[in-house]
Order: sequence, then structure tokens, then C-alpha cells
Amino acid sequence: MSEANEANDCLFCKIIAGEIPSAKVYEDETTYAFKDINPKAKVHVLVVPKRHYANVAELAEKDPAELAHIAEVAASIARDAYNGSFRLVFNTGLDAGQTVFHVHAHVLTGETLDE
Ligand code: 5GP
Repeated sequence: MSEANEANDCLFCKIIAGEIPSAKVYEDETTYAFKDINPKAKVHVLVVPKRHYANVAELAEKDPAELAHIAEVAASIARDAYNGSFRLVFNTGLDAGQTVFHVHAHVLTGETLDE
């Protein structure tokens, strides 16, 4: 998938719209959270803004309140699923391993995580 991927051809926009099924964990007016299809921890949830931004740098610039909200949602998921400990990761750019160019926070929790 190209980094130039646009909102009208975006996997996570389709998941948010319900056009592609997902295991929903949380939803509100601006934000959607669902289980990663290929979990890297006992609990691995992706938290995304419903509006399309390519990566966390664009989100921070254009909607910092939503970025803060995503951190709050992540903390809440980790409290509900585990003991409140969690890792929050935003892969940003091809060289960092970003494969879907709709910003998403990886929330990893549910167990003691490897370093
Ligand atoms: P990235 O590599 O961009 O940081 O993370 C993309 C994540 O999306 C990966 O962890 C991958 O497993 C997950 N993913 C890719 N396609 C789907 C899908 O169709 N459904 C779900 N639930 N997760 C997906």
C-alpha cells in the first residue's frame, strides 16, 4: 500500500464506516477502537480518529485535541482489559513500519510486555 493512499481508498476509513468488519472495542463521536487482526500482545487494540489523517504528525498539527483523546481512550482500554499498564505506539512513515496510512495508535496491554 502506498504512502500516498487517500481517504477514499483507505482500509481504516472502510472499517470505521462498517464496510469492512472489525471487532469493536470502543466508539464515540470522533474515535473508533478495534482489535488488531494480527495481535502482537495478549491485548492489541488500534485506536483511530474517524476523520482521516495520514499519520500522528498530521494529527498533532491539525487536531491535537483528538490526539489527546486517543491517549485517554488507550488508557481507559488498558484499565478495562488489564491493570492500566500499556504501550502506545504510532508507527509513522514507511521506514518505521507504517503500513496503513490512516493514523492509528497501537495499544499493547494485557500482559507483561517484552522490552
Ligand atoms: P502499522 O504497521 O501501519 O503500524 O499497523 C497496521 C496494523 O493494522 C497492523 O498491526 C495490522 O495487523 C493491522 N491490520 C491490517 N489490516 C487489518 C484489518 O483488516 N483489520 C484489522 N483489525 N487490523 C488490520
